Amino acid sequence: MKLGDRIALVTGGGSGLGQAIALRFAEEGAQVVVNDVRLEAAEKTVKEMQGPARGRAIQADVADVAQVKAMFTTLERELGGLDILVNNAGIAVGPGDDRAGIGRKAEARIMEMVTGQEALTHLDVTQNLSDESWRRMLAVHLDGTFFCTREALRLMSGKNRGAIINLSSVAALTGLEMAPHYSAAKGAILAFTRAVAKDVASRGIRVNAICPGYIDTPMTEPMSPLIKKAVTARTPLGRTGTPDEVAATALFLASDDSSFFTGQWLSPNGGLFIG
Ligand code: NAP
Repeated sequence: MKLGDRIALVTGGGSGLGQAIALRFAEEGAQVVVNDVRLEAAEKTVKEMQGPARGRAIQADVADVAQVKAMFTTLERELGGLDILVNNAGIAVGPGDDRAGIGRKAEARIMEMVTGQEALTHLDVTQNLSDESWRRMLAVHLDGTFFCTREALRLMSGKNRGAIINLSSVAALTGLEMAPHYSAAKGAILAFTRAVAKDVASRGIRVNAICPGYIDTPMTEPMSPLIKKAVTARTPLGRTGTPDEVAATALFLASDDSSFFTGQWLSPNGGLFIG
């Protein structure tokens, strides 16, 4: 058991990568608090847990500082501390984003490129992005990561021990033309990871990031077959990833196996980005 005596919090643990990470941590003996913006989603993950550890579902919107503080107050009261935080909660689409329209334009652009035509289709995502969408994207990813990290560090500093894992993305490494707000949020999370890693290293707290490539989850499910084909064609391993492959990376960064890693990012991406 790699996480036998550990208490972990996974945000956005009711779906996709967060769910796989929470279940993997539980299998490895951790007591896992599963957060989600929808309580029933978090509860479903806890029900699926196997192994010796107990799970606890807790609702909070990570973009809301009061809800985050309340969640950590409950966590401290019930469990007395925290060893591992996974800042995973995320969204791909902001309020009002025209996902279908952008998808259609992206498909048209792909066809123009593969047939060698001149560029007649322009994505123009940035110039049409609303303030509301920009703010919500940064609020969930970046504010959420900061709010949870701040509270977690206050608990971890009591023991001078801990591991924080932030979900960034290949979007931070390459830029994703269909989602400039998402790419900006994920890039900021990487810079935050590096700075906080240096800030808290003297306390024995490690902070690292994961930059997954395209992984099959409810977040990527709405991608059209053509866009999925374009992604796998650009991925040397020729496929998308599984949530379990990201969970294995998170387990490594959470456990003592990665005891000399801090301020780093690991990118399970099938070779989509090699840097
Ligand atoms: P997912 O299946 O949509 O799961 C995300 C979970 O977070 C959902 O349960 C979602 O609830 C929850 N959530 C959303 N906003 C929240 C908030 N404000 N507070 C608390 N929970 C919230 O997505 P995923 O693919 O597992 O993604 C997990 C993380 O990995 C995200 O940060 C994502 O950006 C990142 N990532 C994913 C991929 C990929 O290919 N899948 C690649 C790179 C990075 P709702 O369903 O109700 O919104």
